[in-house]
Amino acid sequence: MHAYFPALNSPASLLGDMLADGLGCLAFTWASSPACTELEIVVMDWLARMIGLPDCFLHSTSKGKGGGVIQTTASESTLIGLLAARTQMFQNFREKYEHIDEADLNTRLVAYTSDQAHSSVEKAGLIGLVKMRYIESDSELSLRGDKLEEAIIRDKEKGLIPFFVCATLGTTGACAFDNLKEIGVICEQEKLWLHVDAAYAGSAFICPEFRHWLDGIEHAESIAFNPSKWLMVHFDCTAMWVKNSGRLHRTFNVDPLYLKHENTGLAVDFTHWQISLSKRFRALKLWFVLRNYGVKGLQKHIRHGVSLAAEFESLVRADDRFEVPAKRHLGLVVFRIKGQNELTETLLKKINSSGRLHCVPSSLKSKYVIRFTVTSPRTTYKDIHEDWTIIQMMCSQLLNTAPSPRRAPFMADIRKRNPTFGTSMLLINSPMTPKVMNGSYVALFENGDNLKELLDRNGALRIACKDSPVLQRRVKGMVPGGKQYSLDTHIDLMIAANSTKKKNSPRNSVTSVGDSTLEEDFEEEEDLSEEDVARCDKCGQKIR
Ligand SMILES: *Cc1c(COP(=O)(O)O)cnc(C)c1O
Repeated sequence: MHAYFPALNSPASLLGDMLADGLGCLAFTWASSPACTELEIVVMDWLARMIGLPDCFLHSTSKGKGGGVIQTTASESTLIGLLAARTQMFQNFREKYEHIDEADLNTRLVAYTSDQAHSSVEKAGLIGLVKMRYIESDSELSLRGDKLEEAIIRDKEKGLIPFFVCATLGTTGACAFDNLKEIGVICEQEKLWLHVDAAYAGSAFICPEFRHWLDGIEHAESIAFNPSKWLMVHFDCTAMWVKNSGRLHRTFNVDPLYLKHENTGLAVDFTHWQISLSKRFRALKLWFVLRNYGVKGLQKHIRHGVSLAAEFESLVRADDRFEVPAKRHLGLVVFRIKGQNELTETLLKKINSSGRLHCVPSSLKSKYVIRFTVTSPRTTYKDIHEDWTIIQMMCSQLLNTAPSPRRAPFMADIRKRNPTFGTSMLLINSPMTPKVMNGSYVALFENGDNLKELLDRNGALRIACKDSPVLQRRVKGMVPGGKQYSLDTHIDLMIAANSTKKKNSPRNSVTSVGDSTLEEDFEEEEDLSEEDVARCDKCGQKIR
């Protein structure tokens, strides 16, 4: 399953929700369920700190102005942001003019978002009956300040009223990031409500290394992300924060007598922060997950997903037939077959109709791409490799070609897959110059290094693995197989050195040494006995 975005759950989340269901709280006002309200305040502050939101978004540090609330979906959060922005703009006009006609003003309101924004932004505009401008994103699919500013100026000249901007952190098409810093400054200047939709990517901000995308968040009025996507809290759970909850209150301003309680106005009544009156005790499943995994556990989970996507990306990039047309961010890779869109469309049809993999497409500036998302915490490197092999096979059937040879893996790739793998031998890009890098064995094989000297001194052998068809064949076999071999277990040319010591009369100075030819030595692949271990005359180190 590599379609959409992750929609995870976890035992902790399920148990938390079972408990919530059993308790059967129905919180609307604080008085209707103080525990539900208070726990939501607590976990939303925790979560805000975990992703590095500034103090103005926390209940405890914003002097009661800002804070977080759990909404049902990201779509709903965007709509709430847009509605609050509209109320705010009406309010601004009310302060300036004695009489305003809100219905009339509504026809002149304009909202802005990028051409990469989620369809829920469009939906919010439809519900709010406001114009929506889709600003062209830059070559990195990011909404930039200059383009936004131009559009605002043009609209103001027409007598329209800009009021709302929805920026996306982690777009659905390619996980691109709008430039919050640039956009934020403009929104502040123009007094526009900036809402940030970080539905998918928000979870990643738990890791400090991904937080730079939040630069400029201090200019935003509201931000939402879905722990129900990537944070192992099952649907529904959208975390939304606002800087000024009074603006939500004004938007959803109803105050019937039956909802009044003795702490009205003093305690948080979440009903004024949301569209519906009531809310489920969703804070409980979030609390369970945060307590169960902890910050470190959640960071590990996110990083694992990201590294799998990076692995997939490197596999795609190693096959000449494919391209990755947008920079990979986090756990989403977009790829396509080079050339006409039809090829990639057909490939996706093949993939999905096979029933073995599931991906969905996206269109990035008229390029048809396949989105590949890592969607499970149980996905492994092996899964990723297998899935890519399936895709490659289907591509070969489609193009009637064989996959291009895979480059030998880089050190970093191998380490990721197997952190305990010794660095003894790495076949890097050129199979003909293996490098041995483990201090317990000799380093060798680059022209002019120690072994060569040693062998030359013995006057018997010249290292020329290219002269050995067997070694060549083996190297060829290793590379596409993706298997890692180590010289510790595969002795290859080393045997030659020892044999030379034992018997200084090679039949052939290039490929045959002692009693056997090099070829035979390779074929045998047996472990070395003590006899085969010699010591370097110079440094006393072991040579195998
Ligand atoms: C998934 C997603 C949404 C919609 O999320 P819902 O919670 O289902 O409404 C909105 N925006 C972005 C960027 C998304 O990835």
